[in-house]
Amino acid sequence: MPMAIALQARCVFLGAPGAGKGTQAKQVADAAALAHISTGDMLRQEVAAGSELGKQAKGYMDAGKLVPDEVIIGMVRARIAQPDAKAAWILDGFPRTITQAEALDRSLTGESALTHVIYFAVPEAALIGRLAGRRTCSQCGAIWHVENKPTKRADKCDACGGDLVQRSDDRPEAIGKRLEVYRSQTAPLLAYYRDRSVLRELDANRAPEVVYQELLKLMQ
Ligand code: AMP
Repeated sequence: MPMAIALQARCVFLGAPGAGKGTQAKQVADAAALAHISTGDMLRQEVAAGSELGKQAKGYMDAGKLVPDEVIIGMVRARIAQPDAKAAWILDGFPRTITQAEALDRSLTGESALTHVIYFAVPEAALIGRLAGRRTCSQCGAIWHVENKPTKRADKCDACGGDLVQRSDDRPEAIGKRLEVYRSQTAPLLAYYRDRSVLRELDANRAPEVVYQELLKLMQ
């Protein structure tokens, strides 16, 4: 259990796939009791449940492409309106396009406006190794890595004993596409948020504990 901390942030974690946004978001959200809103996790739950939305999204996800803006924007609007997300939250993996960022701006005004956008900077060469070796617990969602963060027993989660799985979009065929989509559709958000003076850059190419401490400072 991480040490409890006081933070009232409404922030976006921005960065390429594999930059460590999800790992850090889980930890900060637990410690500061913020709602952790991961559009990737929400979509994977829809796919697992076999819902209509999940069926629509699966093909895009497996191919490493973005799910259409109108689907994602509706899903996030509904999630942010829920009671646990009124005061403070982390958006992890959203927005990923300028259209999504503009829609978010329109939904958040006055007291609900964004407080920070944290950019997780990691060189592309490091991202490929991080994604290819990533394993996720099918039971509790904990994130591991075959080399950088191995579990005691291969294929079993140290936290809960659940089976570890490789995400279908972490296979080599999809990784290249996801990085290309990031460069062309998501990286322009850096300039978008820099222009609005909310962007804070984090060197995320370091050990997770070091990144976490730095992140807490940036989120104050
Ligand atoms: P993630 O877990 O954030 O890497 O997301 C996994 C996949 O879900 C992405 O490769 C996209 O196919 C889809 N996805 C997640 N968030 C978004 C978003 N904001 N816009 C479009 N597609 C998304």
